[in-house]
Amino acid sequence: MTALSELAPPATAREARPADRSALLTVDLAAVAGNVRTIAASTDATLMAVLKADGFGHGAVAVAEAALANGATRLGVTGIGEALALRAAGVTAPVLSWLNPVSAPFREAIAADVELAVPGLPHLNAVIQAGRGAKVHLQLDVGMARDGAAPADWAELCAAARAAEKRRLIRVVGVMGHLGCADRPGDPCNAASRARFEWGVQTARDTRLRPTQLHLAATAATVTDRRSHYSMVRVGAGLVGIDPSRTVRLRPAMTLTAPVVSVRQVRAGTLVGYGHAWTTPTATQLALLPLGYADGLPRAASGRAEVLVRGRRRPVVGAISMDQTVVDLGPDPVDPGEPVTVFGPGDGGEPTVADWAEWAGTIEHEIVTGIGSRVPRRLR
Ligand SMILES: *Cc1c(COP(=O)(O)O)cnc(C)c1O
Repeated sequence: MTALSELAPPATAREARPADRSALLTVDLAAVAGNVRTIAASTDATLMAVLKADGFGHGAVAVAEAALANGATRLGVTGIGEALALRAAGVTAPVLSWLNPVSAPFREAIAADVELAVPGLPHLNAVIQAGRGAKVHLQLDVGMARDGAAPADWAELCAAARAAEKRRLIRVVGVMGHLGCADRPGDPCNAASRARFEWGVQTARDTRLRPTQLHLAATAATVTDRRSHYSMVRVGAGLVGIDPSRTVRLRPAMTLTAPVVSVRQVRAGTLVGYGHAWTTPTATQLALLPLGYADGLPRAASGRAEVLVRGRRRPVVGAISMDQTVVDLGPDPVDPGEPVTVFGPGDGGEPTVADWAEWAGTIEHEIVTGIGSRVPRRLR
């Protein structure tokens, strides 16, 4: 328990102008374009741009257009809803959707020429019921026990798909798998998964299926192992500057800034934030930022994270709250309304998404897809 009398008295807090009180997420489409060109140059295979989760939080339509203009020719998403949103925005490139419940709107997908991954007989039957002519990618689990048909069920799935194809109900255009350890290129699990994938393709061919789109690799395998490319690679993270294998230089495409809301002078011994998780060791100045974990700043990064203020790294202090974050400015002057860079490509010394991921004990993907919907987006 802390008696009120022990708390440092509140010091005067200068307030920012209301117009300055908005965080901003800036998406650098030139960075996306450069990343797509870098990746396209590393393969002879068809490049599918993966735009799930709103283009990894960067804006699916904008990332799709940048990818298609720089070497990608196909698009991939998880749910049919994401595919239909691309169609509604006028995107006409081929789109594959690979994660749907059997109750998904397969009829709308077929009508919008959205290709569908089929991981088992219940899905195959649902797609056949939904209408004629679906372009199907049979999906095999090559070793992560997550999505795709188990190998024990594969031959039966291929046979059922071939029977439907003969009746002109569907067309099997692809076989897909997904690697579970591609961020560790030397892991034997990759060779085992490739072997299982090749077995799956051969089994499909033995069933007289003629899939032309054979795809296994995502970003990490695309940039580390040509043997995994087959006829197509599916790249998501790499588009926006994330390389899970840490082997190529890609450019982060997101910059998150926020204006200082207020600056307060405090004494040594001031208890800061929820739970009084931090106490000022000296007299200092604390800046308040209008961003918190609801906006995607991970609470787990409290006590470790930094931001860039006037060209210098400053620590985030106390617990990150839902809407607010406190930064220790030290003795240097900072005015309310001044911009703070939470993360960016790192050119100016600001933290990167990779730094935030490390501080929070997570991966970059979780940071970029977690930026809250109330943060305004700007494309540049
Ligand atoms: C997310 C996803 C991808 C893209 O993976 P990245 O590592 O982000 O390139 C590819 N395929 C499937 C099935 C996925 O779910």
